[in-house]
Amino acid sequence: MKKMEEVLQDWEAVIGLEVHCELTKLETKMFCGCKLEFGAEPNTHTCPVCLGMPGALPVPNRAAIENIVLAGLATNCDIEKHTMFYRKGYMYPDMAKNFQTTQGPKAFCMRGWLDLAVDGRGAEERLFWKDLGEGETSENITRTDAGYIAHVGITRIHMEEDAGKMIHVGGGEGRIAGATHSLVDYNRAGTPLIELVTEPDLRTPEEARLFMQKLRQIFLTLGISDCSMEEGSLRADGNVSLRRRGTCEFGTKTELKNINSFKNLHDGLAYEICRQAEVLEEGGQIYQETRHWDPSKKRTIVMRVKETADDYRMFPDPDLAPYDLSDEFIERVRAKLPELPDQRAQRYVDELGLSAYDARHLVDHRFTIDFFEAAVAAAGDRARELAKPLANLALNDITAYVNAGEGIDFATTAFTPERGVQLVELVAADEISSKQAKEVFAAVLEEDKDPQAIVEERGMKQVSDTGAIEAVVTQVLADNPDKVEQYKGGKTGLIGFFVGQCMKAMAGQGNPKLINELLAKKLG
Ligand code: ADP
Ligand code: ZN
Ligand code: MG
Repeated sequence: MKKMEEVLQDWEAVIGLEVHCELTKLETKMFCGCKLEFGAEPNTHTCPVCLGMPGALPVPNRAAIENIVLAGLATNCDIEKHTMFYRKGYMYPDMAKNFQTTQGPKAFCMRGWLDLAVDGRGAEERLFWKDLGEGETSENITRTDAGYIAHVGITRIHMEEDAGKMIHVGGGEGRIAGATHSLVDYNRAGTPLIELVTEPDLRTPEEARLFMQKLRQIFLTLGISDCSMEEGSLRADGNVSLRRRGTCEFGTKTELKNINSFKNLHDGLAYEICRQAEVLEEGGQIYQETRHWDPSKKRTIVMRVKETADDYRMFPDPDLAPYDLSDEFIERVRAKLPELPDQRAQRYVDELGLSAYDARHLVDHRFTIDFFEAAVAAAGDRARELAKPLANLALNDITAYVNAGEGIDFATTAFTPERGVQLVELVAADEISSKQAKEVFAAVLEEDKDPQAIVEERGMKQVSDTGAIEAVVTQVLADNPDKVEQYKGGKTGLIGFFVGQCMKAMAGQGNPKLINELLAKKLG
């Protein structure tokens, strides 16, 4: 198979996502009072409603609808005031009702959007954005200082309910094939889920990954879900098709089901793009089918040929009245919206003077937000001055540290925000160089001591005494008259040599900025 970069020269990928998110912060299920509890004894949280007993009547969970409206407002959706619940045919023992209650053509949230900032290596997957001038827009992207912003439409966000859980026993390693019997646990049946569907506006696997990441940050900020991709409370289906560059019509798509990590979403889509290109280039045809991404084998396999909407036999649920949301209710929910990641980033720009680039990357991850917010608070009056070095600390050193140790909770390490402020103050005061700061950062984590103490113990203090440095500079120049001649004759690259000699004479502790300044003065 060809590499994706090569494929994307000739083909354009069209990607749309369907994201499922369990509303894990709720107390009770969608249509009954049963408790939502992960890992409880099987079938202890059930009742006639979620077991689908004849005559049992569902009652919508107001708190769940509030969560869904919050999600819609946070993603720029219109809130639909008159909606209905629908029944979607579903015939499998893990859902005793034999249908799933969901929403029809009108969902609670319609026509939203999110803007994705794509830069760095991730931007390389998209072609042609570099032809745009900064601020210039073409199709759904706008060029920025470091990449581009992709405007991604959200078709809708609607309510769904989860099914129970089947356990296959008696052989076959938990799979149904080879099992002698199956057990079913209805604790999860009726758990409220939201499904968010995007427009087919994404063009690269990286954009799909960033969309998921951004959505996760928003849902976490709203506090509506724990959004754990490992535990399955957040998962995505990736739809992808190809079309020849320069053509408009969409090709036939395939759907990758139940993707459970950002990496799998990216890699699964990238594989599928390459597979489809190969089929098409050999004159074959893409079938609309559901496929499964197997990350260990690095390939996708067919799960089933796609059902059409007719197969679900959707119709309004006669047990549930049309559901109307009042303006008052919507406004009450709007008042509960917390500061969202994009707003937070804008505040960092406006109030702390950060660059847009730094600000939007700080809000990408919870640990960088938490560190930065606490450090800025600890910096007090000095917050604006120290914001840039604190942002660098969070985006470079801390990010590298967290990425190297999987699953590390940075807030529990010895490098507290207060120590972060102390470290950047040492650099700002020219007491240590930024190179030494990296060593101090590692030492704080290892030894659980203040940066100040480490600098003293290791005798790292940088010499910033102008008199002392001047003496060294004078000596170095006197020792190398030939080099000074050459420098004056135009070999200005020799400056590095002089700085190196001065540093050596000062055992690495001279302030490089001062050395450079003094050398320039004496040589110039
Ligand atoms: P289906 O009826 O197969 O469920 P939908 O129209 O509901 O398809 O779309 C499901 C998802 O697939 C949406 O995210 C949508 O943006 C995306 N999608 C639709 N058509 C295409 C296509 N041709 N290529 C890629 N994605 C698509
Ligand atoms: Zn129940
Ligand atoms: Mg669909």
